Amino acid sequence: MEEIFQTDPLIEHIYIHVPFCLKKCDYCSFYSEIFSEEVKNKYLTNLTKEIEAYKAHFKIQPRTIYFGGGTPSLLLPEEIESILQRFNTSNTIEATLEINPVSITCEYANKLKQTSINRISLGAQSFVDEELKLLGRLHNSKQIIKAYDHLRAAGFTNISLDLIYGLPRQKKSDLLFSIEKSIELDPEHISTYCLSLDEDVPLFSQKALIPDDETVSEFYYLIRKKLISAGFEQYEISNFARKRFESEHNLCYWKDKFYLGLGPAAAGYIDLFRYTNPADIKKYFQMDLFLNWKKISDEDHEKEFIFLALRKTKGMNLKDFQFSFKENFLLKYEKEIAKYLENKYLEIAGDFIRLTPKSYFISNEIFTEFM
Ligand code: SF4
Repeated sequence: MEEIFQTDPLIEHIYIHVPFCLKKCDYCSFYSEIFSEEVKNKYLTNLTKEIEAYKAHFKIQPRTIYFGGGTPSLLLPEEIESILQRFNTSNTIEATLEINPVSITCEYANKLKQTSINRISLGAQSFVDEELKLLGRLHNSKQIIKAYDHLRAAGFTNISLDLIYGLPRQKKSDLLFSIEKSIELDPEHISTYCLSLDEDVPLFSQKALIPDDETVSEFYYLIRKKLISAGFEQYEISNFARKRFESEHNLCYWKDKFYLGLGPAAAGYIDLFRYTNPADIKKYFQMDLFLNWKKISDEDHEKEFIFLALRKTKGMNLKDFQFSFKENFLLKYEKEIAKYLENKYLEIAGDFIRLTPKSYFISNEIFTEFM
């Protein structure tokens, strides 16, 4: 396979999917299975094989490694460290572990601090217990605070919180409560997600109770306003960070960088090839490397480049576009962008074209212009 790559790609970003949860949350469409020791051990054996097989094909020097899930905190700290030790981590600046508040003890946090993990993404979602129940989360708000305190006490200095808004029957006062509680905890980073429900999740039956678009948009701008007033900088449509705490790993997706996806359901992007591993643990155990790899056409690459770059508040660098696609973006898309520039949904700032804040909530509509 490697002979068909255009270059000898250097891989600097790694995503590892850990496909286990203690229980499925009622809104979640991410691939995961109910945790068992036996399947976890088989998964670790296969993950190791997958890592070693890729190491034989590519030069891998991770700057960022991200354990997502599922519930990666169901792995023991020593298991996480033994995965990390399979890589040359001398250039690794960010190693993130997603943590479910339900699975964290003081002892776990202390042991985790002894590993190379240096960034935590804590799945808070809400600080309103009724909302957490509605979402089918296994933890309450007290457990989020406890988990956060354990992680801080253990010495973690880069913690992100995830929040979800746009819940069925969500009240503005409840949303405000969650934002204020999040700010009070003083994390380095906050990611906010608008609830979206696929047909096959239990909460789909309450989809009609989600507030209308206008209200959800109001919620989005309320979160934004509160976080910015509290000193966070928005660096992407859904992501806010203290200065210098933007997630390097998140940024790799929006900057068109190559990344290796490992584990079931993980997606990867290397040298203009994309692949997704089977979202089925048994199929993953039998999977052939490179079987699902598909070359992206230049046209698709260009579209992805545009809408991923425009997700960053900094926008898309016009010189980078010219360099990658040998065309002038402003001339090529003159017709598509004219009305947005005129009504100030898009703006040009130096070498960048970017969305203006009033278009953040309707960004998908603008992106379809380039599709
Ligand atoms: S939201 Fe997280 S914890 Fe809940 S089922 Fe999905 S992956 Fe598991």
